[in-house]
Amino acid sequence: MAVLSPVAIVWPCPLTVDAYVVAGRQVEFPRLDCPSCGGPMVLWSGYWRHVRAAGRCRRIFVPRERCGPCRVSHALLPAFVLAWRLDTAETAGAVIAGVAGGLCGSRPAAERADVPHTTARGWVRRFGTRAPELGVAFAALAVELGGEPVRPAADPGRFALAAITAAFGAAAALPGWAGLGVWRFASSVCGGRLIAANTTSPWLVVGRRRFMPPVPPLPA
Ligand SMILES: [Zn+2]
Repeated sequence: MAVLSPVAIVWPCPLTVDAYVVAGRQVEFPRLDCPSCGGPMVLWSGYWRHVRAAGRCRRIFVPRERCGPCRVSHALLPAFVLAWRLDTAETAGAVIAGVAGGLCGSRPAAERADVPHTTARGWVRRFGTRAPELGVAFAALAVELGGEPVRPAADPGRFALAAITAAFGAAAALPGWAGLGVWRFASSVCGGRLIAANTTSPWLVVGRRRFMPPVPPLPA
């Protein structure tokens, strides 16, 4: 079984961006087991990075956890961020859903999301490139979680959107996931690499072992 990159693990953080910002280092970060050896990891410093939500840049604390025996540390990204992206998963997801779903063009989607047009267009292009792979991966996850099979559509982007929606629908039946929303779910499943350039194939990280529930679970 492949494991996540040693760089970052996305945890299904249920907090709003504001609450996460305010809590700083005091967020109740989950204590994870090492993706390589399964042993317990310990909090091991961390770093600050920016995230843009609702048009505003905020600083968030990203902790690291370290496995002693493996001598490897992993950053714990909250699910509202995407790896190497300034904007939140929800912001990028709303643009992608609008454009790839055929509801609007990238320019109005960018205006609505309060992001530069070139940024929005970049997300949509990347999503389009990755859509066949994402569609297959999320369709498989939907089935694994007991959801409905998703048939490939002629348009890869729509297939990927339908598969992500179906997988989230199935996950939402499990404790804790419904409140996270579809794009935090998608970011959690992909390790933040939903629209990353070079990426581990997402289905490598959606096996039951890696599919951790939100901590703490939200009331249904
Ligand atoms: Zn280890």
